[in-house]
Amino acid sequence: MKRIGVFTSGGDAPGMNAAIRAVVRQAHALGIEVIGIRRGYAGMIQGEMVPLGVRDVANILQRGGTVLLTARSQEFLTPEGRAKAAAKLKAAGIEGLVAIGGDGTFRGAIQLMEEHRIPVVGVPGTIDNDLYGTDFTIGFDTAVNTALEAIDRIRDTAASHERVFFIEVMGRHAGFIALEVGLAGGAEVVALPEVPVDVEAVAQGLLESQRRGKTSSIVVVAEGAYPGGAAGLLAAIQERVALEARVTVLGHIQRGGSPTAKDRVLASRLGAAAVEALAGGTSGVMVGEVEGEVQFTPLKEAVERRKDINRGLLELLRVLAL
Ligand code: ATP
Repeated sequence: MKRIGVFTSGGDAPGMNAAIRAVVRQAHALGIEVIGIRRGYAGMIQGEMVPLGVRDVANILQRGGTVLLTARSQEFLTPEGRAKAAAKLKAAGIEGLVAIGGDGTFRGAIQLMEEHRIPVVGVPGTIDNDLYGTDFTIGFDTAVNTALEAIDRIRDTAASHERVFFIEVMGRHAGFIALEVGLAGGAEVVALPEVPVDVEAVAQGLLESQRRGKTSSIVVVAEGAYPGGAAGLLAAIQERVALEARVTVLGHIQRGGSPTAKDRVLASRLGAAAVEALAGGTSGVMVGEVEGEVQFTPLKEAVERRKDINRGLLELLRVLAL
């Protein structure tokens, strides 16, 4: 393989730049040229491509977001759009692709491989951590730490004013962020999409802890855990019991920022492993890290199999919230 392409797609995640850097430099070490494709599949269709040399990726390791930009593309969802993208890749002499993104990005990659025989290796870049085949996705650790910092600040206010705070974190379909920050931030309750919310039990639990002498509480709600998110859950509770509480939605502050050491190391490792795999003739897989080891999982499995939350951690949170 002489030339490969790399792109980022879907939601940006801290550590995507570290992954791009690793792809470019590992490829260079193997004598392979790298073309950066800008704006994900949208840019692929338009032929937005730039050669990336080793110096072009200097000083990006520590930066959040993605220097290649990212986008969502409706056109790529059509066979015609994908044919245009494949034609641009072929015209540029690109023989294989490293796709950095989430499940939507990988679904697109599967189509590109099946319809146009373009080898693709996926690198899991999403703050949601919702991909099967890797213990952690690139960006998750940073997002958790960012959300945790915000929660610690809110806790100061909650404690000083003796208030209950409902804090909404990202996670439409997955509760990994909510569970992790809930445990690390000492939440009273976490509400996750994976576990049906028992509104009555949450309401009674909060009142009970007030009776036990707790004067402030944090409830962490994944945005997809309940219709209307944290505000929706609080309203449902207030229909049942008298409870005063404030709602904070953390929103996009969770997406950006300089990646943690853990995310930089993970991105460096997975980006390099993706290039080695492509160069060795492997494709149609996502590269992940499982129990500390690099592991390859078929892209189809990575997007179709559901990675469950750690139920033991959820139980622990309940015990420690006393
Ligand atoms: P994140 O979950 O972090 O937002 P993602 O990769 O899942 O990342 P999406 O917006 O779902 O983000 O997907 C990125 C792009 O991949 C879409 O804009 C679309 O162009 C393409 N894509 C998604 N699903 C498919 C599909 N089923 N077939 C072809 N292309 C797809």
